[in-house]
Amino acid sequence: MKIRKGDLVKITAGKDKGREGKVERVFSRESRVLVPGVNQYKKHIKPQGEGRPGDIVTLSRPMPMGNVALICPKCKQVTRVGYQVTGEKKVRICRKCMNLI
Ligand SMILES: [Zn+2]
Repeated sequence: MKIRKGDLVKITAGKDKGREGKVERVFSRESRVLVPGVNQYKKHIKPQGEGRPGDIVTLSRPMPMGNVALICPKCKQVTRVGYQVTGEKKVRICRKCMNLI
């Protein structure tokens, strides 16, 4: 998985293209990421009886991982992720600055 929870990403496609945000959840099975404030939709909640009126809340939908690009925390550039194997460990590196990320 190239994108991890807590990563800063730039949205590269869709209605929020160009925006940035922090990944809150990764859905590896669906290859989607949840970025708060991005890919929002309005949910209408029906009234649940006395004292619980209906409401409209704004929620974020997970978006395809292919629609986001990682922003490297070291060089602050939009980058692709590379891997380097050191012994038993596979580490993630930035393709631009080659730092571990
Ligand atoms: Zn970098």
